[in-house]
Amino acid sequence: MTVTTARQALQSIKALGAHFKPATMNDDLSQHFKTALRHELSQCPGQPSRDSLMRAAAGACRELLATRWAASQAADRERAADARRVHYLSMEFLMGRALGNALAALGLDETLRAAFAEQGQVLPEVLEREPDAALGNGGLGRLAACFLDSFAELGLPSFGYGLRYQYGMFAQGIQNGRQVETPDDWMALGNAWELPRPELRYPVGFGGHVRVEADGSRHWQPAERLIAQAYDFIVPAHHSERVSTLRQWQASAAAPIDFDAFCRGDHAGAARHRVAAEAINWVLYPDDSTEAGRELRLKQEALLVSASLQDLIARHLNEGGALHQLGRRNAIHLNDTHPALAPAELMRLLLDQHGLGWDEAWTITRQACSYTNHTLMPEALEKWPLGMLERLLPRHLEIIFEINQRFLDELRQRVPGDEALLSRVSLIEEEGGYGSGGERRVRMAHLAIVASHRVNGVAALHSELMVQTIFADFARLYPERFINVTNGVTPRRWLQQANPQLAGVLDARLGQDWRQDLSQLQGLRALAADAGLGAEFGRVKRANKQRLAALVGRELGLAINPDSLFDVQIKRIHEYKRQLLNLLHVIARYQAIVAQPDADWTPRTVLIAGKAASAYQMAKSVIQLAHDVGRVVNSDPRVGDKLKLVFLPNYGVSLAESIIPAADLSEQISTAGTEASGTGNMKFAMNGALTIGTWDGANIEMAEAFGTENMFTFGLRTEAVAQIKALGYDPRLYVEQNRQLQQVIDAIANGGFSNGDTERYRALVDKLLGSDPYLLMADFADYLATQQRVDALYRDPAAWNQRAILNVAGMGWFSTDRTIAEYVDKVWSASTLG
Ligand SMILES: *Cc1c(COP(=O)(O)O)cnc(C)c1O
Repeated sequence: MTVTTARQALQSIKALGAHFKPATMNDDLSQHFKTALRHELSQCPGQPSRDSLMRAAAGACRELLATRWAASQAADRERAADARRVHYLSMEFLMGRALGNALAALGLDETLRAAFAEQGQVLPEVLEREPDAALGNGGLGRLAACFLDSFAELGLPSFGYGLRYQYGMFAQGIQNGRQVETPDDWMALGNAWELPRPELRYPVGFGGHVRVEADGSRHWQPAERLIAQAYDFIVPAHHSERVSTLRQWQASAAAPIDFDAFCRGDHAGAARHRVAAEAINWVLYPDDSTEAGRELRLKQEALLVSASLQDLIARHLNEGGALHQLGRRNAIHLNDTHPALAPAELMRLLLDQHGLGWDEAWTITRQACSYTNHTLMPEALEKWPLGMLERLLPRHLEIIFEINQRFLDELRQRVPGDEALLSRVSLIEEEGGYGSGGERRVRMAHLAIVASHRVNGVAALHSELMVQTIFADFARLYPERFINVTNGVTPRRWLQQANPQLAGVLDARLGQDWRQDLSQLQGLRALAADAGLGAEFGRVKRANKQRLAALVGRELGLAINPDSLFDVQIKRIHEYKRQLLNLLHVIARYQAIVAQPDADWTPRTVLIAGKAASAYQMAKSVIQLAHDVGRVVNSDPRVGDKLKLVFLPNYGVSLAESIIPAADLSEQISTAGTEASGTGNMKFAMNGALTIGTWDGANIEMAEAFGTENMFTFGLRTEAVAQIKALGYDPRLYVEQNRQLQQVIDAIANGGFSNGDTERYRALVDKLLGSDPYLLMADFADYLATQQRVDALYRDPAAWNQRAILNVAGMGWFSTDRTIAEYVDKVWSASTLG
C-alpha cells in the first residue's frame, strides 16, 4: 500500500469518529477523585498512601471513561448499518499500566499532579504503584494492546475480546542465576479499571454428545456448563472523545455448590466443579506438557471464542440487524490461530441456534473472518488432537469435518487427481505428523485460512515467506487471499509517555501533531545535521540513561556508568532471537579486555531482559549463562567500566518503557527468516537508538525507511541461510577457523563461568557445535566485526546523534495508526468482500 492510500483510509475512518472537544472535565475529575479518595481514606484514615491515591485516580478516570464509552457506543449503534464493526479476538493483550495513559489522553495530568501534591506525593511515584496488566507473553499481545489504542484514536467501531487472567503469565524471579516462576497476582489489591458487566453473561458448554432430531437437525447437549461474564476495560483516544473496549471473559460454573456434598461435610467436593471452571481464568499458557494442561488451553480458546461470538450476534440482532447481514456488518479477526475455533463456533451458532442453512451460514462466516499469521515455525502452528476435540467439543468437530469435506470436494473439482495436495491442505492431519504422537489432529491454521477472506503476515519478508513456505499450497489456490500488513506501535505510549523529554524536543521542532500523524517525523530529516538538535538528542539520552542507571542500582545493587554505550536486548528469550549470540559477543569482548586491559576500549553496558517459557529448558539455560557471565565480568577488577552485563528480571511493558528511551544500541539479531516482524525494533528506533540487526522481519522495512546506511546490519540473509542449510551446515568448521570463537566456546564448556562445572552448559554447547539450527556460529564473525563499527561510531557523538535523528525521522510509517488504516482498507472494510 502506498503512503497516500494509507493516509486516505485513515482520514476516512477519522471522519467517522467524533471530534475532540477540549477537556471540560477538570471539575468532574476532581469531584470523582475526591469522592474516591474519601472512600479509600474511610478504610484507612490518615495520610493517603500512594496505593490509595493510585486507586482513587484510576477510579475517577474510570468514571469519566465510562461516560465516553456510552457516547462511543451510542454513536456506533447509530451508524451500525454503514460502519462495519471490528471484533479483534486475541488470547493476549499486554496492556501494561493504564493510569499515565488515561491522564494524558484525558488531558488531566496537571490536575492530578496538583491533587497529589496536596497530599505530599509526586505523580510519577504514584503512577508506579499500578501493577502491569501483563495479560500476554510478548510481541503478539503487545501488538493487540497497541491496536486498541489506535482503534480509539481512529474512532473505529470495534471490540477487543480476550480473557481475564487472574495471574497473567507468571512473574519472573531470579534465584542463584536461574529463572523462578511465581503467579503474578496483579489483581491482589483489586482492579480499579475494570467494569463488570453482570448483564452480559453467556452459557458455554463442554463435553456431552450431539443429539440428532427427527428433522435431521443436530443439537449439542454439553455435559459441563459454564457461564462467561464480561468485564470491560476502556481505552481512551488521545485526540477525540472516542474510546475503544477490551472485553474480557471470566468463567464460572453455571451450577451453584453441590449442596448434598456440602452437607455431608465434603466441602472441597461440593465446589470441585467451580474450581475447575475458574481454573480457565488462572493463567495464560498453562504448561502444555501434560494432557490436563492442553485440555485447559483448549477450553480457554473455546470459551473466548464462544462468549465473544454470542456477544457479537446478540448486539447485531439488538441493533435490528438481520442475520443475513451479519457478515457484512461485522468483521471477526483472529490474532494468530488461538481463536481459530471461531469459524466452527460461528457456524454452530448460525446453524443450530439460529436455524440457517449451511451455505448461508458459510457465506456469513467467510465474510466475517480474517486471520493474521505470526510465525513461520511449523511447531508453533496449533493442532488439536481429534480425540480431545471429540471429548470436549463434539459438535465443533462435526462442523470442522463438514467444512473440510466441502473444501476438499471443491478442490477435487478444481484440481482433479492431486491426492497429495489434498492431504497437504486438509484440515485434518493424518497420523504421523511432526509431534503428533500418532494421533490425527486438526490443523487450526488451515481452518483459519479456509474460513477467512483475508490472511496476512506482519512484515513484508514474513508475508513473502509465508506464501512461499508454510502456506504455499493455499497461496497458489487462493492468491488474492494473502496479503501483508506490517506491524507498528502506538507513538502515544512508546514515544510520548515513555520519553517525555524527547517528545518535548520533537514538539519544539515539529509541533505537536506527530502524535496523531507520525509521518510528520520526517520533518527531522532536514534537521539531522543541525548540531544543536544533535546535542539535544544527546542530552535527552543521557538523562534517560541516568534514570535507568539509578533503577539498576536500586533493583540490583549494581553501579553502571551512564556514559558507557547502553547495548540493549529485551524480548522473550528464544533460541531464534539469539540472546546467546549476544552473550558470545560479551564473552569475546571480556576475553579481549582481559588480554589487553590498557587498549582504548569503548565502555559498554550490555542489558538483557526477557522471560523464558516455563518448560523451555534451553531458554532457561541462556538466562543462567547471562547471570554466570555477568557475575564473572562485573566483578573482574581488570574490566571495570569497560564492560558490564546486566540482566533485569521480570521483563514487561513498564520495564520496557524505562529501558527503551535509555538505549543507545538496539539488538535485533534473530536468524534471518525467523522473526515475523518484531515491534521492539520499532520502539527503539523511534526513541533514537541505533539498531544492530539482521536482515529480518521489520528490520528490513525500517532500514529502507531511514536508510540502510543508518542501521548496523550484519549476518546471512534468508536465501543464504537456506543455501547453507541445503548444502549441509557444519558449525564446527566456523569454530575451527576462528580462534576467538573457539576461545569463547571453550570458556563456556570448560566451566569458565560456572565455577569449573563442565556439565552446566553441556547441552547448550553440544547444540551449538552439533546442529546450531539458528546459525550462531555462521554469523558470529560478522556480528563481532559489526560491533566494532558500533564502537567506532559511538566515539563520535556528533555523528552518532545525527544517525539517531535520521532513525527517528524515518519511523513515521511504523505507527499502529497506519497499520490499522491498512487493515481497514485491505481486510475489514465491506469493500474487501467483493
Ligand atoms: C514490544 C514488546 C515485545 C515485543 O518485542 P520484540 O523485540 O519485537 O520481540 C515484547 N514484550 C514487551 C513487554 C514489549 O513491550
